[in-house]
Formats: sequence, structure tokens, C-alpha cells
Amino acid sequence: MPEIFVITEHRKGKFRDVTFEMLALADKIASANDCSVTAVLLTDHAYGLAEELKSACDCVLIAEDPALGNYSADEYLAVLEKIIAQKNPLLTLVGNTAMGMDLAPAMSTRFSIPCVSDCVNVEISDNASLKLERQIYGGKINACLLMKPSSKYIATVRAGTFPADRDRGKNAKIENFPVPAFDNLGKRQFIEYIEEITEDVDITAADILVSVGRGIGKPENIALAQEFADAIGATVSCSRPVADKGWLPKSRQVGTSGKTVKPKIYIALGISGAFQHQAGMKNAETIIAVNKDPNAPIFNIAHYGIVMDMFQFLPKITEKFKQEK
Ligand SMILES: Cc1cc2nc3c(=O)[nH]c(=O)nc-3n(C[C@H](O)[C@H](O)[C@H](O)COP(=O)(O)OP(=O)(O)OC[C@H]3O[C@@H](n4cnc5c(N)ncnc54)[C@H](O)[C@@H]3O)c2cc1C
Repeated sequence: MPEIFVITEHRKGKFRDVTFEMLALADKIASANDCSVTAVLLTDHAYGLAEELKSACDCVLIAEDPALGNYSADEYLAVLEKIIAQKNPLLTLVGNTAMGMDLAPAMSTRFSIPCVSDCVNVEISDNASLKLERQIYGGKINACLLMKPSSKYIATVRAGTFPADRDRGKNAKIENFPVPAFDNLGKRQFIEYIEEITEDVDITAADILVSVGRGIGKPENIALAQEFADAIGATVSCSRPVADKGWLPKSRQVGTSGKTVKPKIYIALGISGAFQHQAGMKNAETIIAVNKDPNAPIFNIAHYGIVMDMFQFLPKITEKFKQEK
């Protein structure tokens, strides 16, 4: 049975969501093509991490060594070279993240496997070649690519594209892979993580976002959106013009040149829905848009649309939630 590998990504002992997003995609491809899904875990301490993967794949393949605690390209490549040569996976999925953008091209050239980056969908076509979807022109167009037939493929997967459900109803077997000796490696070495210094909130971690666009008019009006957000326990984010004008910090900007968010509820206030903005929020579970223009593109992706002047909407809705508290 052909295997799909997912190179898991973890940092400081915690999986990054992209790991489970890739496992969701791998599961989808595997179900359609009778393949099995293997999560490849390179770590210095598999205990706990491997357990977290068990319900999301068919096999957890562990390579455990003190040198694999943090991502380091030379060590990862040395181990993956052995694993891939021995196991022959048809497809290897890697996150299109800082780690994956470093690792996947190096795997592709070192192991002579064709690689496509930043995919938003991957399928196996009838003739066993790979069919991929990528966004081009900043997300305005989805391009469908068919790869030339090959015995193996690598694809990097855009973070935030698939649901990060941890329980896929599986019970994976655990397999340990012997780690080769790391002699004469180390042109690059992991030194430390330097966390981004931010005194602001992390909009990617919020369950509910109240997002303001240029329609908010002037900086003083942001207080109205903040009051509404406080009443419903939300965080305030924004479109690019609001950040560009300095009305909210850049760390609050959603979109291609801002952050990708996937909250449970995204409330867009006075945001037209340009594709650069949509690219950062269209995977929110529920999108509610308030806009006075009924033809605003945001309504094409909104689950609920309110055609209204937000300055009439905001005081009323805030008051309603305050009363119910
Ligand atoms: C390379 C590049 C990268 C970009 N990256 C990003 C990005 O990361 N994020 C991003 O957001 N944009 C980004 N943009 C900009 C993007 O193209 C749009 O210009 C931007 O998203 C528009 O922001 P907006 O919807 O707030 O403003 P507008 O497009 O001006 O829309 C304002 C909306 O408010 C509505 N409105 C006005 N008054 C009211 C009212 N009183 N009540 C209700 N509705 C009202 C209007 O009907 C309108 O639909 C990028 C552009 C480029 C070229």
C-alpha cells in the first residue's frame, strides 16, 4: 500500500497546528487512493508527542536522538535521507513554514524528488501523478498543476488551509527508526529561539475577532469596535489600510502581508474583502460581515451578511450584549 509521509513540526515540545492540518490532508488523499498515512517524528523526546499523533494517522515513525530536539537542517536531512530511501513513500508533505521552506527544497535536491511548494490542495490523479492547487497572483487565482509521473513527490502545504483536528479516529502503530551517527555534519547549528518581542495580543490565537477596515473612518472610532469586542470577549484585528495609517499596530493586520487567522468567528466591519485580506481569514469557521455596500466582495465568503452602516449597528449590538451579561 503506498504511503503518505507527513513531516511533523514541533517547537519547544508542542506540535504546531500545521502538523495536524497536513495529517488531515494526508487522510483525505489516503482515503481516496487506498494509501496509509505515516507521521514522521524527529525529536529528542518522543514520549507524549507520539501519543498525540496516534489518533490522527496509521503509523508514527519515530527517530529519537538528542541532536533532533530542535529543527536543524543537516541532522534532519541525514535522518530523512535514510528513512525515505528505506520506506519509499509516494508522497511526503512538509509544512510551508520557516522550517519547511528550508527543509523541503533541500530534500528535493538531495534525494532527487520533485517538489511543489505552498499547495492549498493535493490529490493523486488517475495515472498516479500528483495534482496540486496553488494560489498565484497573491491569491487571486488558484492554479491547478499536474506533475510529471514520478515514483515519489514532495509537496509543502500552506498553513491554515486544512482543519487541525487531532482525532481522526485512528490508532496508529508506533515504529522506531534507528538514527544514523551524526559525524561530520554541522555546517549549520541550532543555537536558540529568539521570540518575536510583542507587547501586543496574538490575533492568531483568538477565538473571536472583530476586524475593522477603512470603513471605520477615523482612529477615534476604533473605540466603538473595541467596546463591542469587549462585550463579546473578542480581540480586535484590522485590514491593511488601518495598520498602514497607524490606527492599530501592524501585528493586528490580517491578510497576505499580515497574519493568517482561523478563529471560530470573524466579524468584518467596513472591510471590502480584497483578495489579499480574504487570503488571511477565509478559513474562519464563521464569517460575519457588516458593510453598507451590498456588492462588497466580503459578502461572497461571509456566512452571515449585514448590509448596514456600522455606526448604526455597533452601538445597538454592543448594548444588547452588555444587557445580556
Ligand atoms: C501586495 C499587497 C499586499 C496586501 N496585503 C494586505 C493584507 O495583508 N491585508 C489587507 O487587508 N489588505 C492587504 N492589501 C490591500 C488590499 O488590496 C485592500 O486595499 C485592502 O484590504 C482594503 O482594505 P479595506 O477593506 O479596509 O478598505 P476598502 O477596500 O476601502 O473598503 C472599505 C469598506 O468599508 C465599507 N464601509 C465604509 N463605510 C462604512 C460604514 N459606515 N459602515 C459599513 N461599511 C462601511 C465600504 O463599503 C467598503 O466596502 C494588500 C495589497 C497589496 C498590493
